[in-house]
Amino acid sequence: MKIIMLGAPGAGKGTQAKMIADKYAIPHISTGDIFRANIKNGTELGKKAKEYMDKGLLVPDELTVDLVIDRVAQEDCKNGYVLDGFPRTIPQAESLDKALDERGEKIDYAINVEVPDDNIINRMSGRRACLSCGATYHIVHIPTKVEGICDRCGAELILRDDDKPETVKKRLDIYHEQTQPLIDYYSEKGALAEVDGTKDMKDVFADIVGILGE
Ligand code: ADP
Ligand code: ADP
Ligand code: ZN
Repeated sequence: MKIIMLGAPGAGKGTQAKMIADKYAIPHISTGDIFRANIKNGTELGKKAKEYMDKGLLVPDELTVDLVIDRVAQEDCKNGYVLDGFPRTIPQAESLDKALDERGEKIDYAINVEVPDDNIINRMSGRRACLSCGATYHIVHIPTKVEGICDRCGAELILRDDDKPETVKKRLDIYHEQTQPLIDYYSEKGALAEVDGTKDMKDVFADIVGILGE
């Protein structure tokens, strides 16, 4: 099962993608996580990506597309995967489709997690992230057992540099301009499924399982 998560920054793509990956035993591939891991490790890619991420801009396709296409060609992706944060532009989607097509494969579901912009700013300011295991929490909606500490791995949580309100606004503008057109793109391919992301995390997941099957 090959799945793409669509939705605005902060819609809950990562939260749902992790649950999907656990339930269906497929890898969760987040481009944001890959870039943040590279920044943390001080790689060349990380240095380049950070310049764009901190401004709320998209990392250029030249640094993004091949990375994902190589990743989904790996052995553990044979039975499927859930892509979170990629594609984010029509050219990215076209490159992915072309690479999959050459292997006789296709995306089965593009799940759009719908959340209005008004809710997003609130979610982002309360988001806390674990850079060690990739888990994400919310100080009000999805709190940790011990404040500031990851439930899964015990590492200290951070407020992402790009989750400040000014940067979030910029990211939302870019989302509407460059990423939202993917909803029509996957709709035309018959792969689109939509869920109401304003519901409780567990209810959103139940709706997704209703689409993907038990
Ligand atoms: P969010 O979870 O808020 O949607 P991500 O963790 O997916 O954010 O991405 C963080 C940042 O990493 C983005 O704002 C962008 O700068 C960069 N990024 C992630 N995925 C892509 C992509 N597919 N194309 C370009 N830039 C990306
Ligand atoms: P995305 O990957 O789309 O950027 P995240 O999964 O990181 O979004 O979620 C953004 C923030 O909202 C996080 O703080 C997360 O804990 C919280 N969140 C996720 N899903 C829900 C939900 N259904 N209701 C309330 N808060 C949520
Ligand atoms: Zn952790």
